[in-house]
Amino acid sequence: MKTQNIAPFSYKYYEYMLQHALETGAIISSFEKFSYSHERTIILRHDVDFHLNGVMQLATIEANLGVSSTYMFRVHANEYNLFSPYTYKILENVLSLGHEIGLHYECMSFCRALNNKNPEQVFTQEKIVLESIIGRNVISATEHRDISCAVHKTPYFSDNFNPEDYGIEHFAMSDKYHKEMKYLSDSNGHWKEGDLFKHIDAHNRFQILTHPDWWYQDDLLLKGAYFHGFEH
Ligand SMILES: [Zn+2]
Repeated sequence: MKTQNIAPFSYKYYEYMLQHALETGAIISSFEKFSYSHERTIILRHDVDFHLNGVMQLATIEANLGVSSTYMFRVHANEYNLFSPYTYKILENVLSLGHEIGLHYECMSFCRALNNKNPEQVFTQEKIVLESIIGRNVISATEHRDISCAVHKTPYFSDNFNPEDYGIEHFAMSDKYHKEMKYLSDSNGHWKEGDLFKHIDAHNRFQILTHPDWWYQDDLLLKGAYFHGFEH
């Protein structure tokens, strides 16, 4: 597939990347719909860090291609509010397209900032809040790392606790999804190892992490700090 004329991180590029993967015979799914029974599989994960713009765009592209993915949402974000009608509608639409909603937890940095010593309790609270908003169980999760974690040397929740002990069936950074599959991430707007086009023929199982923050229609600058997109 020719992608020379398609800008990296444009929605069009994302669509072409998935189309190409499907043409190689891969089954693309969320964590909840993933099955080892297929030989070639790609789990799609999105960490919704700061921008909601990009969520419905990517979710719609995926649904039009007949695939699903997992959108991990934060409950402590300053940049979006899960309780606002706007966000609530996005959550509802993501689910109605057949995607999964997971928890992008941040109990460790939350507890550090508040001198609260009980990340287990905060983890459970985050999960309950998200579940009560979406009206269904949350079984997939991964940790959101605030940039200040580097300064404060904040440990990962999974250094001391196993998310699977707290009702999580699919911890995205567990060995089975992280080490035993080819893991590719667009963190910081950069595919460190190259994107799916580069690796699709060399592996049978993938977890692909993308952040809606980095993907755009015409220019990333047009998303702005609090721009919520054209979709509604
Ligand atoms: Zn994050």
